[in-house]
Amino acid sequence: MYEVLIIGGGPVGLFAAFEAGMLGMRSCIIDSLPKLGGQCIELYPKKPIYDIPAHPFITAEDLINNLKQQIAPFDPKIYCNSKVISIDKVNNTFIAQTECGKSISARVVIIAAGCGAFTPNKPNLHSIGEFEKSGCILYSVVEIENFRNKDVVIAGGGDSAVDWALALSDIANCIYVVHRRSKFRALQANVDQMHKKASNNFKILTPYQLHSLIGRNGVLTHISIKQFPEGEEENIEVKADYLLSFFGLKMSLGPVLDWNLNIENNHIVVDQTNMQTNIEGVFAIGDIAKYNGKLKLILTGFAEAALAANSAYKLIYPEKPLHFEYSTNKGIQAL
Ligand SMILES: Cc1cc2nc3c(=O)[nH]c(=O)nc-3n(C[C@H](O)[C@H](O)[C@H](O)COP(=O)(O)OP(=O)(O)OC[C@H]3O[C@@H](n4cnc5c(N)ncnc54)[C@H](O)[C@@H]3O)c2cc1C
Repeated sequence: MYEVLIIGGGPVGLFAAFEAGMLGMRSCIIDSLPKLGGQCIELYPKKPIYDIPAHPFITAEDLINNLKQQIAPFDPKIYCNSKVISIDKVNNTFIAQTECGKSISARVVIIAAGCGAFTPNKPNLHSIGEFEKSGCILYSVVEIENFRNKDVVIAGGGDSAVDWALALSDIANCIYVVHRRSKFRALQANVDQMHKKASNNFKILTPYQLHSLIGRNGVLTHISIKQFPEGEEENIEVKADYLLSFFGLKMSLGPVLDWNLNIENNHIVVDQTNMQTNIEGVFAIGDIAKYNGKLKLILTGFAEAALAANSAYKLIYPEKPLHFEYSTNKGIQAL
């Protein structure tokens, strides 16, 4: 059992793990995405941020890397690819259930869920669920080796599509990159590298879009693609063991709305003095938290994380006095 369960591994959730660690509390971070970083990593990793105190500018990706380094001494347990679907209070313990069937217990919960869980935009294809179940259609890459000697169709025109096409090109048997436009929206250097790779085993099919999935019992064998916008040309069938679909992400509060929290305009109302929600032991911080005068900024979220961790400590250890200490006096005590 953890002392603190943090739902959301964006910048604010990560900093909450630091603040919990400074108070000697073990934490666990859960995120629905395959990697930590929230909006910073999913939406603008290479953009410089100019309003993080003491950093005249820092890219969103570097900020997240620094936060990961900062929490490392406290070794929080991290579960990615895990969407929390429910939290229940049993006696003095909260039990969170994830979509993939994991159950995690903690004394308090800090919700740092931003605008909600990111979920992939899915292509509108007949019987897609059947092929998703068997793992032939994926929205992220967890294990590169699964693609060794396989035929892989990669759909999309952004950084994820181009990066993974390049990364898998030496492993897969054949890669087909399918995009509706001739121009890609990815880092130009990578797009250039991708075009240089074009060959019989690495085909860039533009302007095309996915048309239908072909296979049996959920096992994909081919994908039919068609010209975009529709033209005279016949559909093309390409061999495919996997479809990697990268059509961006959408955010939805989803399960958070069902946790009996006080919600206003898709945000969780908190008491600004301690970041606690209407449920004792459940705190909310960062973009998802709402109170009068709230500024949705990373720096605001950092301060909220400190406040929530201190409030959580007092709740978990009412008998232990909490002496306020500067980090300069206290130092870092690894957990
Ligand atoms: C283009 C852009 C530029 C920006 N520039 C700036 C800037 O210059 N300065 C600034 O201060 N802010 C900026 N922001 C805003 C800043 O990114 C957000 O304020 C910040 O990311 C909020 O952090 P967070 O940790 O609260 O939430 P997020 O970063 O949204 O992270 C929340 C995480 O929670 C996860 N999650 C949600 N629900 C669940 C669930 N049920 N189970 C598991 N995981 C869940 C999500 O997958 C996500 O990873 C910018 C935002 C954008 C889009």
